[in-house]
Amino acid sequence: MRAEFSLVLRQSSLAKWFYVCSLSSKNIVYKGQLSPPQVYNYYHDLNHVLYTSHFALVHSRFSTNTFPSWDRAQPLRWAAHNGEINTVRGNKNWMRAREGVLQSTHFGAELDLLYPIIENGGSDSAAFDNVLELLVVNGVVTLPEAIMMLIPEAWQGNEQMEPEKVAFYNWAACLQEPWDGPALFAFSDGRYCGANLDRNGLRPCRYIVTNEDIMVCASEVGAIYIEPETVVQKGRLKPGRMLLVDTVEGRIVDDKELKLTTARRQNFASWLENNLLRLPNIVKRVRRTKNIDPVIDSVTLSTDPVLLAFGYTVEQLNLLMLPMVTNGKEALGSMGNDAPLACMGTQPRLVYDYFRQLFAQVTNPPIDPIRESIVMSLEAYVGPEGNLLEMKPEQCHRIVLPSPVLTMEEMNALKNLRLAYAAWVSRTIDITFPKVEGLLGYEHALNRVCAEAQQAIDEGIKVIILSDRNIGPDRVPLSALVACGGVHHFLVLQKKRAKVALLIETGEAREVHHLCVLVGYGADGICPYLVMEVIHKVVREGLVKDDTDLATLMKNYRKATDDGILKVMSKMGISTLQSYKGAQIFEALGLHNNVVDKCFTGTASRVQGATFELLAMDAFEYHERGWPSRQTIIPPGMPESGEYHWRDGGEAHVNDPVGIAHLQDAVREKNQSAYDSYSRNAYEQIKSVTLRGLLDFDYAKATPVPIDQVEPWNEIVRRFVTGAMSYGSISMEAHSTLAIAMNRLGGKSNTGEGGEDAERSQILSNGDTMRSAIKQVASGRFGVTSNYLADADELQIKMAQGAKPGEGGELPGHKVSVSIARTRHSTAGVGLISPPPHHDIYSIEDLKQLIYDLKCSNPRSRVSVKLVSEVGVGIVASGVVKAKADHVLISGHDGGTGASRWTGIKYAGLPWELGLAETHQTLVLNDLRGRVIVQTDGQIRTGRDVAIACLLGAEEWGFATTPLIAMGCIMMRKCHLNTCPVGIATQDPELRAKFAGQPEQVINFFYYVAEELRGVMAKLGFRTINEMVGRSDMLKVDDSLRTPKTQYLDLSAVLKPAWQMRPGAATYRVRPQDHKLYIRLDNKFIDESEPALNKGLPVRIDCDVVNTDRALGTSLSYKVSKLYGEEGLPKDTIHIRMKGSAGQSCGAFLASGITIELEGDANDYVGKGLSGGRLIVYPPKNSKFKAEVNVIIGNVCLYGATSGEAFVRGVAAERFAVRNSGANAVVEGCGDHGCEYMTGGRVVVLGTTGRNFAAGMSGGIAYVLDTAHTFASKVNMGMVELGKVDDPREIAALRGLIEDHRHYTGSEVADRVLHDFHHLLPLFVRVMPLDYKQVLVEQAVKAKEEKLRHSVIDLVPSRTASQVDLASEHLEEVLHPKTLSHDSLTPGLKSRHSYESSVPDLEDSMVDDSTTKQRLAKLDKTRGFMKYKRLGEAYRPPRKRVKDWKEISHRLTETELKFQTARCMDCGVPFCQADTGCPISNIIPKWNDLVFKGQWRDALNRLLLTNNFPEFTGRVCPAPCEGACVLGINEQPVGIKSIECAIIDKGFEMGWMAPNPPPSRTGKKIAIIGSGPAGLACADQLNKAGHSVTVFDRNDRMGGLLMYGIPNMKLDKAIVQRRIDLMEAEGINFVPNANIGVDVDAQALVKAHDAVVICTGATWPRDLKIPNRQAPGIHFAMEYLQLNTASLLDSEHKNGNYIDAKGKDVIVIGGGDTGNDCIGTAMRHGAKSVTNFELLPQPPASRGHDNPWPQWPRIFRTDYGHTEVAAHFGNDPREYCISTRDFVVDEDGKLTGVNTVRVEWTKDSGGRWKMEEVPDSDKFFSAHLVFLALGFLGPQGELLKALGVKQDARSNIQTPSKKYSTNVEGIFAAGDCRRGQSLIVWGINEGRGAAAEVDAWLCQNTRLPTAGGIKQRRFVAPPSNLIDGTTPLAIKVEA
Ligand code: SF4
Ligand code: SF4
Repeated sequence: MRAEFSLVLRQSSLAKWFYVCSLSSKNIVYKGQLSPPQVYNYYHDLNHVLYTSHFALVHSRFSTNTFPSWDRAQPLRWAAHNGEINTVRGNKNWMRAREGVLQSTHFGAELDLLYPIIENGGSDSAAFDNVLELLVVNGVVTLPEAIMMLIPEAWQGNEQMEPEKVAFYNWAACLQEPWDGPALFAFSDGRYCGANLDRNGLRPCRYIVTNEDIMVCASEVGAIYIEPETVVQKGRLKPGRMLLVDTVEGRIVDDKELKLTTARRQNFASWLENNLLRLPNIVKRVRRTKNIDPVIDSVTLSTDPVLLAFGYTVEQLNLLMLPMVTNGKEALGSMGNDAPLACMGTQPRLVYDYFRQLFAQVTNPPIDPIRESIVMSLEAYVGPEGNLLEMKPEQCHRIVLPSPVLTMEEMNALKNLRLAYAAWVSRTIDITFPKVEGLLGYEHALNRVCAEAQQAIDEGIKVIILSDRNIGPDRVPLSALVACGGVHHFLVLQKKRAKVALLIETGEAREVHHLCVLVGYGADGICPYLVMEVIHKVVREGLVKDDTDLATLMKNYRKATDDGILKVMSKMGISTLQSYKGAQIFEALGLHNNVVDKCFTGTASRVQGATFELLAMDAFEYHERGWPSRQTIIPPGMPESGEYHWRDGGEAHVNDPVGIAHLQDAVREKNQSAYDSYSRNAYEQIKSVTLRGLLDFDYAKATPVPIDQVEPWNEIVRRFVTGAMSYGSISMEAHSTLAIAMNRLGGKSNTGEGGEDAERSQILSNGDTMRSAIKQVASGRFGVTSNYLADADELQIKMAQGAKPGEGGELPGHKVSVSIARTRHSTAGVGLISPPPHHDIYSIEDLKQLIYDLKCSNPRSRVSVKLVSEVGVGIVASGVVKAKADHVLISGHDGGTGASRWTGIKYAGLPWELGLAETHQTLVLNDLRGRVIVQTDGQIRTGRDVAIACLLGAEEWGFATTPLIAMGCIMMRKCHLNTCPVGIATQDPELRAKFAGQPEQVINFFYYVAEELRGVMAKLGFRTINEMVGRSDMLKVDDSLRTPKTQYLDLSAVLKPAWQMRPGAATYRVRPQDHKLYIRLDNKFIDESEPALNKGLPVRIDCDVVNTDRALGTSLSYKVSKLYGEEGLPKDTIHIRMKGSAGQSCGAFLASGITIELEGDANDYVGKGLSGGRLIVYPPKNSKFKAEVNVIIGNVCLYGATSGEAFVRGVAAERFAVRNSGANAVVEGCGDHGCEYMTGGRVVVLGTTGRNFAAGMSGGIAYVLDTAHTFASKVNMGMVELGKVDDPREIAALRGLIEDHRHYTGSEVADRVLHDFHHLLPLFVRVMPLDYKQVLVEQAVKAKEEKLRHSVIDLVPSRTASQVDLASEHLEEVLHPKTLSHDSLTPGLKSRHSYESSVPDLEDSMVDDSTTKQRLAKLDKTRGFMKYKRLGEAYRPPRKRVKDWKEISHRLTETELKFQTARCMDCGVPFCQADTGCPISNIIPKWNDLVFKGQWRDALNRLLLTNNFPEFTGRVCPAPCEGACVLGINEQPVGIKSIECAIIDKGFEMGWMAPNPPPSRTGKKIAIIGSGPAGLACADQLNKAGHSVTVFDRNDRMGGLLMYGIPNMKLDKAIVQRRIDLMEAEGINFVPNANIGVDVDAQALVKAHDAVVICTGATWPRDLKIPNRQAPGIHFAMEYLQLNTASLLDSEHKNGNYIDAKGKDVIVIGGGDTGNDCIGTAMRHGAKSVTNFELLPQPPASRGHDNPWPQWPRIFRTDYGHTEVAAHFGNDPREYCISTRDFVVDEDGKLTGVNTVRVEWTKDSGGRWKMEEVPDSDKFFSAHLVFLALGFLGPQGELLKALGVKQDARSNIQTPSKKYSTNVEGIFAAGDCRRGQSLIVWGINEGRGAAAEVDAWLCQNTRLPTAGGIKQRRFVAPPSNLIDGTTPLAIKVEA
């Protein structure tokens, strides 16, 4: 009746005003938005004397709800709930789906009237209450049983649980997924009154029972005062347990008894045995009749179109998939995510990328899925559900899947399920659609799939498989996610979802995130078949090291995905997959509501975005990759995307090479214009990366103010902070440089979570200090001591971090150096695990407590809470402000500098723009904004970013990566490998020595940012930051930046001005929080401790305490730390004796010298962060109960203790001594998770422990008295071993601790143990972490050696120890006999050509093949750049080589090359490929890696993707790539050019470079004029696109500059001819001797072709017009070179048709390559002398200030010609600063020499260079031949005139910027004739660019790649047969 009435009510206008609390005859429910004292005034009946009850259930809590309402107030009708139900969305969906299968004998036909069971609009607690009510009223199960079904204990894998109970829970799991989350439920039906704790048990629940039969149960002890002597029991509710009072029977029902009785109601075990279908059985049974082995096709990985069509990229395969299959773990990345959001980038993206994982922060705890795996499970039940409202065996008739990831065999078995179980029929539904249907086909297909699914269910099908296996040339797949979400929600709506298992067979899903999203939107099981096929092929193609077999790789992949899924679930605090499934724990970022409503119903999607059409567009774009509509020959292999590592031509990144280079230049040289370029570039990048890229300032609304009225920069920088990077993640040098810079500025640096040495706070002699003003308090609590806290200006609580919200972290042992260990209070060499934040900050109440604790630990410091942006963060932030935080930081998803799994980096958290706007708006709306400072961070780079952040609501801003870049970071993204080559993110001393950052660089950066911000402020009319905060009305969306992808993004919610929402409310912080520290009991302690504080005199204090006295002793500790530092006072100087129930955090951060002695009991967090103090707790002396079996202190005691002592007479609840790193403690029993993550100290437990003891414990030792012999089964053995205590010193120490315990607490147990110590000693189990033990052993050995060394030294009589030279005495060998070191087997490679002394020569050290192989196998690519030296190409000796015309150098051997490639670091930002690096953007790191792995053919294909002619560039390119190589910053760069050349040479040698003509022709004819690098590249590309290409050249041979401009010794002409022959064989027509426009009619040529490309080069030479220029013997360099090569090729110089320099004095005027080639040619002719004139000064030996890396280094170089001259004549031929005045001729007019004068270069007052002659420096040089190598002026004019093509002012062919089309339609230009004289490699680049443009012009589309080999996206809708003509869609597409 009530349900019916509620339903009617909800549909009426009274819905908001009327709520039925209860119509029960047994319970009365009072609700209200009331504080406890208001209750009695409001509900007067409660005061009535006759009002009695057996029990009262009271719910009062800290309100996190921003907008509370009466109906949402607790308690509900059946239950009250403290906590969160994280899975509620899934629970609601499943309940709705289940309505289709519900039947009730109790309700009969009236059941329908109850629907929906879960009332709309209710809270998570209300939803739970609805379901509980249904189960209880239905009557099949009782209230406690219903609770057991909905909130089961952690039963899976629990061997200690009774089998009946396991069976019961298993039965319940078949019916109902758990309602999961941290929760304490109290419930009552009038008879039973009870409470139940979730499986994790984080919420406290303490109870006492008195001798008057009263039970008081509350979340705190001491809530009601009870006389101590009446108490008979003190306990706490354990995880998963139930506390139940039966008021009818008048007794407390024991949890065990209750559950066993329930479990024995039926024979659940046999029900399960007879009905459950287990997957292995299914596979076995199907196999009997059908072969279900996977069939793998013969297509190779690099040629598989299916991989391309599903969007696989090289990066995904290498960076993500291969690490998963080889290591069984997801790969790590670092430095956050600076790639475009899926809704912003132009490249196609999978639909999964639009989903961001939600994670727990503040309102509920994430879990550690590794260390707390006991609560986790991936098992799930699928297939038709039974009826929830009965209890029958058939309910177990379901399939149980151990993991959602299915193998291909398993999927095949499930497809043929009826062969195993006839009643179980499965059906596969095809989710592909015909390509001809075009974009509309996408949504059509979805509708069809939904309809087919419904029909299948109606036909009795029990398993539906959605499959995209039918993908092919004519069929495009729907995204499996769209199909899955669409079908799931469609079936939920139809109430049919519970009738079927929904399985997905897809080639699309491969990453952990993909699988999670599928499960999150309803998939029961997923077979990612394509990735599994990839694994098969990886094995087949031998791509894994160590020949690991297929089964292992498969296992690894499944392990990696299973672990990954668990991690993602745990981030949200969800323990079981069953609850995660369908729970939709995601936010959509950039999906349109029409998609969300249909497929992802209920998911938040705040900015709209991609529609079905856009998703379809991406699907077609992928499909084109696999089966292109038009054939173009492209080297095989998966494409590069540039998504993870920057790639030229790929997706934009916030941190791109240009930006990094400009920034470093700006801050090093204080160069404003470089900063301006940096800022402009940053804006360009973010336009297609972040949401703020679409925003612009609305200057039109503003009234500008003069800039000098704007707040000065030095005030603004005080609001800047640097990111939380720990010392440990970055080097001490980098960490302290940041701190110094920020201290000088008055901003703040952050310690990060690693603690900080007290010495860093000392003032240095120059006034600097290395102290970090912000001290972070993270979940690891490393080094968080009272002194650390007392020394802060800000204490930052890290709830989450940008790169991995909801996750913990790890610092591997090798990174824990002695000094890091000291700072972190741990042991050097022992790894440190930082737990996720679920110990003392898992709920808002706990966070409030921690804020209070910290405020007490340092009242002067502000307390900040770091949150990460996600939907709902505004509400969380409001809770945080109500909890009295002074400061809130909203971090963006993209920040983070530390290492993290890629899943976390890419898919967790949201942009700060969203989180910040939401936070600011919510805080203003609730009038809370005035109490708090709001800060934001996440890839903030410029003043522009800061201005936007300010307008959206932040008054402070954090920067992490940019200051690092300012200090020299080059975004290697290898931080996790400890190999940072610039000494920032490393602890390696060798690398740290390379750190060159200066505080000034950081200061300069912030100065520029502040000044840029001031500029914006002035234009917007803001004089101060405070005026500007939250003025989002001054922002607008710049619609001109919209792309087809971003056209539907709607940022209006972000831009809503908060000040208009609640006029009058403060919009920035105007007043401080009132922490009410003046009413603390500690003030009394401080007053009374004055003699101790001032004089160190002992003090005794007595007092009574109650549970509202919190953080006792913490403020006093602050005083002690401030006065006495880390050392504190001598032990026990201040002794405080308390009586009563202490509130939370008793003795938190208690400093040395303070003792707290508590007679009574205490709540949670006793001794949190204990910092040297002593804690003593014992029960009231007059109490009657046995202390050792009663709970005396609460949860999470001694968490993060660093030193001190604790003696507790009685039992501690859960999580005792978690992350203890140095305290010694004795306790008489403890709950679950004792000593978890402990890293130091000693813990003695004189009683029993709970489960999961010592999980993640890496240091310290625990001793547990195990009289019951049950302890071993409760230990998490992952990192520890168990043993006896047998070392006498240890025994003595143990005994000492127990004696102290007896002494301080009067413990009876201790007394008994000591009396019988020798008998009981064997019962003590010693828990020893393995790593810790190892380190202790090593330390002992070292100490022993040291002792021995000293004793030996002592034996040497006549010398002091310091004088002894151990080596000369040969004592070293005696002390340390040599063992064969591992390293000696892999000596560093020594260059035999560069002869560097310290490294042995490779050839010398290589003995035989097997040794070589061994060494190669051990080659270290991670640290190769440190180990192996650069090896240059082998040049033939200069004296020998000038005797012939053969090439001067030859390639390195394969072995040598492998060492060279091992030097490449595979940079995250490969500068070698960037702007100042390789002009054609060769993907250098990739082919380096492939050569390293021996995959030469793949390396060749990767090289050919970007470079048509590596054999030319590999020989003659000056290699700007090497000038930009990151290694070149402080080392020799990688030898890129020689590797490139070797790859192509190998390609020809192996016959891989065979002709590959296009399979079909387009019929278009193209003429290319000129056959130099640009002409050939253009021809090659256009031919690949299927056009008919003819190349014309005026010379007799093809090749242009390549043939005649470069001499044979540099580039063998046979190699040029080989390429031309190859191109000819591929169908290109070459026409020599055709001088178009001169002797061939140019217009006729144009008419005969569809397009013409001019590639004639810049061949008009610059002349030197000085007297006697016309004299014979003076030639242009090109004339000399060309004639020489022609004669050589025609007749080997026998025809004499060349200029012979033999026996002559030769002068070459002009440097560069051409000048050098003249020198080399003259040397081969046998010149008498060769001199080279340069007008400019000699370049410096190293880079000048104006020539920073990564620019091409303008330094002094010696080329081959110079060496040859030097070798012959003993001197370098070059003369610098020399000007030629005139040529000198004899009376016959013959050239005899040149007159010269020296010149000097100086700068004029305007900074311009000017040249002056040096007086009296005239000199005559004898010369018979002079070659002018002065460069070229541009193209020759005849052709251009004939074609009517325009030239620009520099006489180059005129084209629009970045285009190749000329003023004449159909005529294009490329190469030097367009861009001016340049490198060959630039010519190739031009030719490729022009080809792509011509192809697109001719065919309206192109697949020809340009920069970086990445095809640029064009949004062109495919044709559709579903509509007439073109697309009618709203989507804008490119013409
Ligand atoms: S083409 Fe030149 S710049 Fe590019 S990789 Fe090769 S050598 Fe380096
Ligand atoms: S070649 Fe140099 S810059 Fe390029 S990826 Fe390798 S180490 Fe980095």
